[in-house]
Amino acid sequence: MLPWQLLNDRNPEDLRGKMEKDKWKKELAESYRSVTDLPGNFKLLKVEEDYFKTGNDRFRLSVPIDYFNLACSNEDDPIRRQFMPQIGEQVTTPWEINDPLGENPHKVTERLIHRYRDRALFLASDTCAMYCRHCFRRDYLSTNPSPLNRVEIENAAKYLRSHSEIKELIISGGDPLMLDDSRLEELLTAFRNSRPDIVFRIASRMPVVLPSRITDSLSNLLSIFKPLFFITQFNHPKELAKSSRQAVSILVNNGIPVFNQAVLLRSVNDSVDVLAELFQELLRSSVKPYYLFQGDLASGTHHLRVSIIRGLEIMKELRTRISGLAMPVYAVDLPGGGGKIPLTESYIQKITDTEIIFKDLSGKEYSYPVES
Ligand SMILES: *Cc1c(COP(=O)(O)O)cnc(C)c1O
Repeated sequence: MLPWQLLNDRNPEDLRGKMEKDKWKKELAESYRSVTDLPGNFKLLKVEEDYFKTGNDRFRLSVPIDYFNLACSNEDDPIRRQFMPQIGEQVTTPWEINDPLGENPHKVTERLIHRYRDRALFLASDTCAMYCRHCFRRDYLSTNPSPLNRVEIENAAKYLRSHSEIKELIISGGDPLMLDDSRLEELLTAFRNSRPDIVFRIASRMPVVLPSRITDSLSNLLSIFKPLFFITQFNHPKELAKSSRQAVSILVNNGIPVFNQAVLLRSVNDSVDVLAELFQELLRSSVKPYYLFQGDLASGTHHLRVSIIRGLEIMKELRTRISGLAMPVYAVDLPGGGGKIPLTESYIQKITDTEIIFKDLSGKEYSYPVES
């Protein structure tokens, strides 16, 4: 028996264990929450200074110190661009809107969005450990500060009970893991009781921005509610720091499958090399790349978007570089409520009565017969 096991066995209420369990709350409280919190030697870039000069700081800044420390002073630093606002956020292009996915008409209770027949999404929290500058629910997060209450949970549970066509429930927000373990347990219990058959998905960026949130006790709690999938958002290989890989492995070792939804972001990951490394390293951490999202048309996010034409080029090249297992689906959530659709360049050149002509990745043509 290892010495530390002896120690734990003798002292189950080990103080260290409790401190470890609540470390995230301390780290969250110590996060930088405004530009004045940032360390003195962190020199603002011109584009950042210009943003703060306007005095319009509607979508707040918040960044845990360890995540902040991954960034460097370079203007195009992929971490910095995700948490630091720039003057570009004050610009709204004519096609950008406040509810870019058209979610509001599909709200069936205060916090439940039912847009696809077989899936629903619950907005469990209105806050995050880190506010991503590319957030598409920035308008929602800026205008709904009231915390989750019991009636809202009950109303969603009631809706789920009477809608058996819903097979999966996505628990999102905000970040649902801003709720502490006991609130989370309450919520999952209510939904599990109303629908013993439903599949849960937890959508959280905590493994990336506040990995100490992923504790053994959280992982044990989540594993009670299987079938449960964990969806996170790594956007750059630099984010796969040791602590983040450990957070992921706590979940994976508990039998919780982990998937990644990355967002294609200008000067963050709009390169074949960066994405190839990201997706391969995710696989090495047992995380399956699920989606690569085209940036949504949320207002003030133009400076972070990449054109779909460029996105398609990147995906085509990626397919020649990495395995099918490492490839996510490139998808766009159509503006105005059209929903998610996959974006792929068609490899089909022509369809006749007798054959389909394909082009392979190198451009060579092949025929496949049409059978009746
Ligand atoms: C993205 C999303 C889903 C899940 O879509 P999948 O393609 O199954 O991952 C469900 N509901 C809403 C409202 C969504 O935005």
